[in-house]
Amino acid sequence: MPILLWVRGKLHAEKPIYAGKARQSLWTSATVNIATLRPNVFKPIEKPVDCVVEIQEISEPDLRAKVTEFKKAGEKLDVAEADIIVSGGRGMKGPEHFSLIEALANELGAAVGASRAVVDAGWRPHGEQVGQTGKTVSPSLYIACGISGAIQHLAGMSSSKFIVAINKDKDAPIFAIADYGINGDVFEVLPVFTEEVKKLKN
Ligand SMILES: Cc1cc2nc3c(=O)[nH]c(=O)nc-3n(C[C@H](O)[C@H](O)[C@H](O)COP(=O)(O)OP(=O)(O)OC[C@H]3O[C@@H](n4cnc5c(N)ncnc54)[C@H](O)[C@@H]3O)c2cc1C
Repeated sequence: MPILLWVRGKLHAEKPIYAGKARQSLWTSATVNIATLRPNVFKPIEKPVDCVVEIQEISEPDLRAKVTEFKKAGEKLDVAEADIIVSGGRGMKGPEHFSLIEALANELGAAVGASRAVVDAGWRPHGEQVGQTGKTVSPSLYIACGISGAIQHLAGMSSSKFIVAINKDKDAPIFAIADYGINGDVFEVLPVFTEEVKKLKN
C-alpha cells in the first residue's frame, strides 16, 4: 500500500518497488507537485480527517504542458480500471480457449487479464498482462484461471480485495494468497461457473 502525505510543506510519498520486496521513500519540496495514483489503491475514508490542503492556482502563462484531448484506447475495459478481472494463464492451453475466460468476463462485466507466459506466447495482447512487467491492479475481485502464481504475477494483483483461483495443481502458489480456491480443471470449472453467474443474474 502506498503512502501519500503532506508534511510541513513537503510532499512525502512511499511506494513498493522491486515487486514489493522494498519500499521507496520520496520527499519533495518543489512548489508544484503532481502525484498520480493507480485506481483502487486507497480505500475511500468514511469520515474525513482534519487536514489542510493548500491548492495553488496556476495561471495560464505558467502552464508548461496542457492536456488537449483524452483518447480512449478502445472499447474494451482496461484491466487497470476494472472492478472485476478474469485472468488466464498457461493452463488455458491455447489462445482459442480464452473464449471461456471472455464468456465469464462478459457475464460479470469484467476485464480480461493474462499472465506474462500467455502474452509472451502471443495468445493475448500486452495491454492485458498483469504483474511486475505488466499492469498493477487492485480490483474488488480477481479470478485467476490456470495461473500458477509466480512472484512476478502476484506483484501485480495481490492487493485485489478478493482472489479466486482455479488450478488443477493443489500446491500451486496462487492458492496461498487466494480467498477462494477451486482445485479443478479450468475446462470443466469455467463453463459451470459462467452458467451459475448467468442463473444468478436472471
Ligand atoms: C523479470 C521477470 C518479470 C516477469 N513479469 C511477469 C509479469 O508481469 N506477469 C506475469 O504473469 N509473469 C511475469 N513473469 C513470469 C513469471 O515468472 C511466470 O513465468 C509466469 O507468471 C507464469 O505464467 P502462468 O502462471 O500462466 O504459467 P505457468 O507457471 O506455466 O502455470 C500454469 C498453471 O496452470 C495450471 N494448469 C494447467 N492446466 C490446467 C487446467 N487444465 N486447469 C487448471 N489449471 C491448469 C498449472 O497447474 C499451473 O499452475 C516475469 C518473470 C521475470 C523473470
